[in-house]
Amino acid sequence: MILSEKNMGISASPTLAIDAKYKAMLAEGIDVVGFGTGEPDFDTPNNIKKAAIEAIEKGYTKYTPASGILALKKAVCEKFKRENGLDYGPSQIVISNGAKHSLVNTFDAILNPGDEVIIPAPYWVSYPEMVKLADGVPVEVQATEEDGFKVTVAQLKSVLSDRTKAIVINSPSNPTGMIYSAKELMEIADFAVENDLFVVSDEIYEHLIYSEGEGHVSIASFGEEIKKRTIVINGVSKSYAMTGWRIGYAAATPEIANVMSNIQSHAASNPSSISQYAAIEALEGPQDSVEQMRLAFKERREYMVNRINSIEGVSCLMPDGAFYVMMNISALKGKTIQGKVINSSDDFCDILLEKALIALVPGSGFGADDFVRWSYAASMEKIRSGLDRLEKFLAK
Ligand code: PMP
Ligand code: GLU
Repeated sequence: MILSEKNMGISASPTLAIDAKYKAMLAEGIDVVGFGTGEPDFDTPNNIKKAAIEAIEKGYTKYTPASGILALKKAVCEKFKRENGLDYGPSQIVISNGAKHSLVNTFDAILNPGDEVIIPAPYWVSYPEMVKLADGVPVEVQATEEDGFKVTVAQLKSVLSDRTKAIVINSPSNPTGMIYSAKELMEIADFAVENDLFVVSDEIYEHLIYSEGEGHVSIASFGEEIKKRTIVINGVSKSYAMTGWRIGYAAATPEIANVMSNIQSHAASNPSSISQYAAIEALEGPQDSVEQMRLAFKERREYMVNRINSIEGVSCLMPDGAFYVMMNISALKGKTIQGKVINSSDDFCDILLEKALIALVPGSGFGADDFVRWSYAASMEKIRSGLDRLEKFLAK
């Protein structure tokens, strides 16, 4: 039987695949250290867990409206107002099964077959596949390490065509940790307005910023013109250590939100009722755990970057946000390490996993083959051990 040609061409998520491989090795009793998936190692804060237990006890265990309960949508609107200076009403909010699902709904809602979506690389692994799932065409623009992994409007212009429909902006970025300044975002916003494009702004790492300065700015906050063409994506996974609860959300015009909600009503109904109540507590309850986690990530970031830059053959930039480091391995390409020629980031990660028992994600899936990604959402002990192993391995 012939399967769907479009979907047979969709690759598995490499971040999730590496995490699964790492966990399978652990289960076999192999002493591997994993930095594959970007997932806070902290437990979900207690006040949030309690809210979920209470929801179960109160019997909030049934279907909810597909796009989420009103109380959570209101909490999301409050959050946008308080933290981003953005005014939305509940009819503009769609709650989904993680920000990943919010993004899939977004591309499904805005794309027609052949529509092009500009994706600055290095990009999070899932964007191009999501665009393809929605019959769109991902168009990559490469941001270099020399440019701090940021694309310029001139680069965006160079790939503009009459099929360009949207741009993806992910600041702070997975996998590079870079942050666009308000000025840079404003230029991108002007470009989007001038060329009648949608902006898909994935702001899931907004609370994880370490550099001093203006902090997080949403591109949607520069006025009505850009706001109405921006779909803001966010969620509780990263900020509140809630990756397993699967709650993400999108804010858009009522028209876009309605299409997204209709799609979701057939594909998934509502996200978990219990998780929705927990997410209200995450957004409305005490925020001190967010800051505690941020400070811990900041310390780990500095340790990791300093150690990497002290090891011969590899290097990295100091990321401003999120919890990833892109380690440059271009100096190792073409070299033979323990009998294997390193031709790609995949080769490097394979040999590192096999011989040094370190799980990292190859840059190939992020559109950046000269790099491999570390996540520092792991304990200091693990980070120390991983870097010790790398140092020993490369010294051989
Ligand atoms: N966007 C980015 C940039 C991410 O790194 C992730 C992490 N998985 C997501 C969206 C999706 O997060 P989730 O589905 O867990 O809410
Ligand atoms: N976003 C995280 C990562 O990049 C989690 C895994 C995933 O959803 O891709 O590792």
